[in-house]
Amino acid sequence: MMHELPFQVDRFRRILSVNGHSYDGGKKIALFEHISIAQHACDSNAQYSSIAGLGVSRLFALQDLSAGDSVKICYLPRCGPLRVWPRWARQNELNTQFHFCFMCDLCNSQESHNPSRRSMEFSQALQALDDAWGDKEAFLSMAEELIRTTAFTTSSRRTI
Ligand SMILES: [Zn+2]
Repeated sequence: MMHELPFQVDRFRRILSVNGHSYDGGKKIALFEHISIAQHACDSNAQYSSIAGLGVSRLFALQDLSAGDSVKICYLPRCGPLRVWPRWARQNELNTQFHFCFMCDLCNSQESHNPSRRSMEFSQALQALDDAWGDKEAFLSMAEELIRTTAFTTSSRRTI
């Protein structure tokens, strides 16, 4: 049986789920005075890091920043420099995990279209690969298969 949380508790839970960051190896979650106000961008210019056992979390730049630049981190766990997710997948994940739609500069620069069959298969293969991370043999086998079956060229990136 589900019980409704008191308004203030539910509000805090929502704020924490959207703005909180895990730390100490993902065992804990916290709001940070400065880190938690970093905006999302699929092509982020900064990254959040936390090292288990040290109790230290940090935000570091991925490129030179000038005074006045917005510090942007990618909220998606597998995003960042690889940028292999198509726009539709990134938008779906933001909506699923954080319950918002946000069009960053990268998303605004890409065409909006429904996912192709190939794109869906590729996303499912990446998810399966991610799920196999703890099983070295399965992971390596799946990674080899994914590399072999994916002609990941500059021209194919546009169609994914
Ligand atoms: Zn984006």
